[in-house]
Amino acid sequence: MRFDSHVERLLTVGVRLTNALTPGLDGGHEVALPSGRALPDAVAAALTFERRPTVSTKDAEILLEVVPRVRAVFDAAAAGDEAGAARHTNALLVSTGARPQLNESADGTWHLHFHGPNDRFGPGWAAGLAAGLTMALGVDEIGRLGVCAADRCDRVYVDTSRNSGRQFCSTRCQNRVKAAAHRARRAAAAGRE
Ligand SMILES: [Zn+2]
Repeated sequence: MRFDSHVERLLTVGVRLTNALTPGLDGGHEVALPSGRALPDAVAAALTFERRPTVSTKDAEILLEVVPRVRAVFDAAAAGDEAGAARHTNALLVSTGARPQLNESADGTWHLHFHGPNDRFGPGWAAGLAAGLTMALGVDEIGRLGVCAADRCDRVYVDTSRNSGRQFCSTRCQNRVKAAAHRARRAAAAGRE
């Protein structure tokens, strides 16, 4: 199954925020946490779809605090630990105060959305992140959440491909791995000559 566009957007934001706001490695490069003005800028970039939102430092800090717990769900999912992923997601639902609500779309149809304890930006998105993970796990699509399989990379991704065969955070990492395998084959062939 493919996620509906609302769930896909929530998961996309979860991926972008996790990759921007958790330290580690991105395609062999160290990722440092943004600080000062760079923090709300990184959050605004992660939340940009049709237009770039204005993000306050306070809202960015709320999301910075939530993101390591979102990352824990991706880590558990990638390790095949479904119970762990569910436990982390349930804890996120409670801590972000996520509550379901039906919202009417422009075409008059009603859709399930999740809101925070209030309609402020930071708490709203924190609840949205929890909701996206809940809806992915709740329809048995935990396998769509992954951590990059490339060497020296730990960035996360959501696999929205038809055959759910994705393994890497980016085409850059995919190409890195392909090039390394190619070099290894050439070296092995040269060794045989
Ligand atoms: Zn990667």
